[in-house]
Amino acid sequence: NASDPRTPAPTSAELFERALKVIPSGVNSPVRAFGSVGGNPPFIVSASGALLRDADGREYVDMVGSWGPMILGHANPSVVEAVREAAGKGLSFGAPQPGEVLLAEELTSRVRPLEQIRLVNSGTEATMSALRLARAATGRDVVVKFAGCYHGHVDALLAEAGSGVATFALPGSAGVTAATAKDTVVLPYGDREALTELFSQRGGEIAAIITEAAPANMGVVPPPVQDGTGFNRFLADTAHAAGALLISDEVLSGFRAGAEGQYGIDGEGWEPDLMTFGKVIGGGLPVGAFGGRAELMRLLAPAGPVYQAGTLSGNPLATAAGLATLAGLDDAAYETISRASLAVQEAVASALADAGVPHVVQSTGTLFSVFFRDQPVHTYEDAKDQNTEAFTRFFHSLLEQGVHLPPSAFEAWFLSTAHTDQVLDRLFEALPAAAKAAAQG
Ligand code: PMP
Repeated sequence: NASDPRTPAPTSAELFERALKVIPSGVNSPVRAFGSVGGNPPFIVSASGALLRDADGREYVDMVGSWGPMILGHANPSVVEAVREAAGKGLSFGAPQPGEVLLAEELTSRVRPLEQIRLVNSGTEATMSALRLARAATGRDVVVKFAGCYHGHVDALLAEAGSGVATFALPGSAGVTAATAKDTVVLPYGDREALTELFSQRGGEIAAIITEAAPANMGVVPPPVQDGTGFNRFLADTAHAAGALLISDEVLSGFRAGAEGQYGIDGEGWEPDLMTFGKVIGGGLPVGAFGGRAELMRLLAPAGPVYQAGTLSGNPLATAAGLATLAGLDDAAYETISRASLAVQEAVASALADAGVPHVVQSTGTLFSVFFRDQPVHTYEDAKDQNTEAFTRFFHSLLEQGVHLPPSAFEAWFLSTAHTDQVLDRLFEALPAAAKAAAQG
């Protein structure tokens, strides 16, 4: 009887055993299952700042941040208060509400290429909708994506995807029809020649190129600059020359790599046609967004012919959380995260070097990840060629010492304004033993 105070709360192990009976693999999103690192995941019962507390009463320094949204730390008082206040006024109206306007104004004023946006409930919905819009706008079917980039579990975008698809070494997903797969062309990330070749043969069929503005779902791969031209700009130029669109996916990098996402890092003088967002803009509640030039966005229903909708889209609690989170993201916040990010990168590199563990730390802005190999990673092929067993030992040693990394060697590490020096000291103290464990293969 759960309501009897004498009944002890279930432990993580008990919860996982029960979960396995009623939830596939016990989880609602694959990478949470610890499938590639082994062991059972702790069940988190509460979180505050940079710390997680599990059902067994253990505390962890959180390096996952709900995979990106918790950039102001968990249970940030101003975000929680904004959600509480919104909740008191009603949970969902199914009619326009002021928070939608405020969040759209906030996003369009912070990110230059955005003239109009639509809010959705996840990053997956954002990329799915942007792709439909791009196909409608161009009257073409083919989409080009890059191996190792993840854009959510959209049928057309699962081929050679990053994130969990990479973690579990899957080529794509069962259940995607051949008809859908045939309209997706996958190229190696950063390969300008392959892209030029493809466009010279099939340019007239291509609706859009979609890319992670900064790939971070195979680990972080900064977009390469060649002869002064960044890869994203090259993609925009190549697409535009053929009448195709560029969809820049900033679901992960947006408002995290820096104040204006990867777009702010890439430099001026060019624009993607459509952009997608998620994670940070919902502050931990389910929010995604896609947007771009008004002339494209006007093709959406009801004014235009492209159908796209959502019962809970623009939900008042979600917009309140997003607005409060963005309000907390001033220059000082990015400065704090940037300092923490550099300190962690240096400490991890030095601990692994001391233990003789081959590693490469890669970053763009404040976004970074650690690869367990000694050569830089430019492509998904490179990312797959790393010592995931060493990572697994490193991961478990840190977990035992109270530091929760993403449970995969293919994921970015996520910091927040709550990762103070005091919190990070716990990580720094744990690193030497974890690096030693990684070395003992
Ligand atoms: N695009 C990118 C770049 C992502 O990192 C993710 C999620 N990790 C998605 C899309 C999908 O977002 P969601 O999980 O909210 O559907």
